[in-house]
Amino acid sequence: MIYAGRTFMLLGLGFIFFLCQVTPGAGTELSFTRLIFQDEHVKVTAIEDRPGFFDVSLFSGPASKEERAAYFDSQGKTPSSVHVFLVHHRPSGDYILIDAGFGDSVPGESRLLKALEKLGLVPSDINAIILTHLHPDHAGGLLWQGRRAFPKAKVFLSEPERDYWLDFALKAPGNASAALAKNALEAYAEDVCAFSTEEFSLAINPKAFDYYSLRPVDASGHTPGHIAVQLRAESEEKPKLLFIGDLLHAAALQFPRPEEYPSYDADPQTALAVRRRVLDMVAEQGIPVAGIHIPFPGTGTVEKDGAGYRFIPLP
Ligand SMILES: [Zn+2]
Repeated sequence: MIYAGRTFMLLGLGFIFFLCQVTPGAGTELSFTRLIFQDEHVKVTAIEDRPGFFDVSLFSGPASKEERAAYFDSQGKTPSSVHVFLVHHRPSGDYILIDAGFGDSVPGESRLLKALEKLGLVPSDINAIILTHLHPDHAGGLLWQGRRAFPKAKVFLSEPERDYWLDFALKAPGNASAALAKNALEAYAEDVCAFSTEEFSLAINPKAFDYYSLRPVDASGHTPGHIAVQLRAESEEKPKLLFIGDLLHAAALQFPRPEEYPSYDADPQTALAVRRRVLDMVAEQGIPVAGIHIPFPGTGTVEKDGAGYRFIPLP
């Protein structure tokens, strides 16, 4: 059973938008799902919807061109991914996706549906989808051939994110990303749940004494309503895992040099402040993170390292 409660802090911001996407690259078909967390209640699987690369030309910041290039290969590329995270609550049988990948919104193979099939699931098994934001590499997979891909899923996102994109689609009807966001939200109609109060939590099996919840954390800056999502056991203060969405993009560059930013960040200064705040918190508290664009499986821990951070991938 999925149960929604509310207490989410919102920021009403409006910024210039840039499309967030990675260049599709060659992938290894047999290794695009991986179990990244499990206990007796919850199981989390990383699904690599698409592998890819980020190009050095997308990034700006205080580093010189030469300093920045040192974090990329000789072709100016660094590996990346587009992930979807699947959360399974064993006692209730709920399946929840964190983001939905590209779907068929751009050319190339989107592997989410194939991955679900491999895991023994069909699209109607998905109860809920939490969107960190509405860029096409996160929301495109809500649709397949123009129709909703997950017939029984409720879609959760922040109200500022929903409002920003619906407004953008009105003002710029020719913008493909805005049209995709609008179409996706319209396809899910009354199943779209936008949260706007102080806090929101999607509790899994709320009747159980020791239940889990997925709670959004304001991480705006990349987009006006971008969120991170905590996976928490309610009996514990420290989250088991923090899904960080697009808190950062090129892991090889932005963990050691967090002040570097991609052209995709709508408000780079706010995004940087959030990146610092969240990375400081997870490093101090030892909270594992799962990033949508960190190379597969996108999961690991963070340590402080000089003026920046070091990412230690899941072994
Ligand atoms: Zn993205």
